[in-house]
Amino acid sequence: MEKVEPYEKKFSGFFPEGAELERLFTGSKWAEGPVYFTDCDFLLWSDIPNDRILQWVEGLGVRTWRSPSGKANGNTRDIQGRLITCEHGTRRLTRTEYSGQITVLADHFKGKRLNSPNDVTVKSDGTIWFTDPDYGILSSRRDGIVVNKELEGNYVYRLDPATKEIIVVADDFVKPNGIAFSPQEDLLYVSDTGLSHDPIGPHHIRMFKVTDEGKLDDNGVFCEVEPGVPDGFRVDTEGNLWTSAADGVHCYSKDGNLLGKLRIPEKVSNLTFGGNINKRLYITATTSVYAIWTNQKETYPCLKL
Ligand code: MG
Repeated sequence: MEKVEPYEKKFSGFFPEGAELERLFTGSKWAEGPVYFTDCDFLLWSDIPNDRILQWVEGLGVRTWRSPSGKANGNTRDIQGRLITCEHGTRRLTRTEYSGQITVLADHFKGKRLNSPNDVTVKSDGTIWFTDPDYGILSSRRDGIVVNKELEGNYVYRLDPATKEIIVVADDFVKPNGIAFSPQEDLLYVSDTGLSHDPIGPHHIRMFKVTDEGKLDDNGVFCEVEPGVPDGFRVDTEGNLWTSAADGVHCYSKDGNLLGKLRIPEKVSNLTFGGNINKRLYITATTSVYAIWTNQKETYPCLKL
């Protein structure tokens, strides 16, 4: 428990007595996009530079689940439980059908190619919300290619897979990145990680009210994360937001107060809840995947059915 650093007392209560941080795997180049399949009891995550998605099964270990993966980045599941993937290299958003076939959900907006979809979440009405910063086309370093950007900005999108309608819901981000709804889906959180390419750039999470028409009203900055940036994050059923940072996982109350930190030995990119009744926190951090049991949990739409 020495890794748990409470800023408010209640944070210690988020972990069961004796909870230990475990390293489940090391050997990724840049681990990202963890998603748990509670029904089948396995974790998938992206290893972006190695162009693969890996799978971890308790007691069995790790195997390559998909390669090439289009340099898969963020992952989630839709309301039917199918895998939704941001393919940062092939610059598209895809769905993996039960047959294993890959369906392209979006690769253009108004005739122009997307930049490099980064992270994604699904609302219980089936709509898919994703961020499209330009990390994948800015440099050939680590995981990208250098190509001219077709779109003017780095937008946040809402896609309705039933009608294929895609709209921009936010157009004023430097680098939109992580994305998650509050438990009631009345709020949407989106991070801006502009600090990655500008020393005075944003490293915060913004909060939006979701309107009945499925649009967003800006509610300002929810929290500023440091050190590092809030690359990926999730919200638990009590509305606490668990985000990546350079020194570990930071947990904020729904009022935006820092409740505590979970120190991780490597820079954290993203996280998800999973495991038995979704109470285990899985953390992708640079080369490794870590896990710790918590008393909190996350519910996403396919688990509400
Ligand atoms: Mg990201």
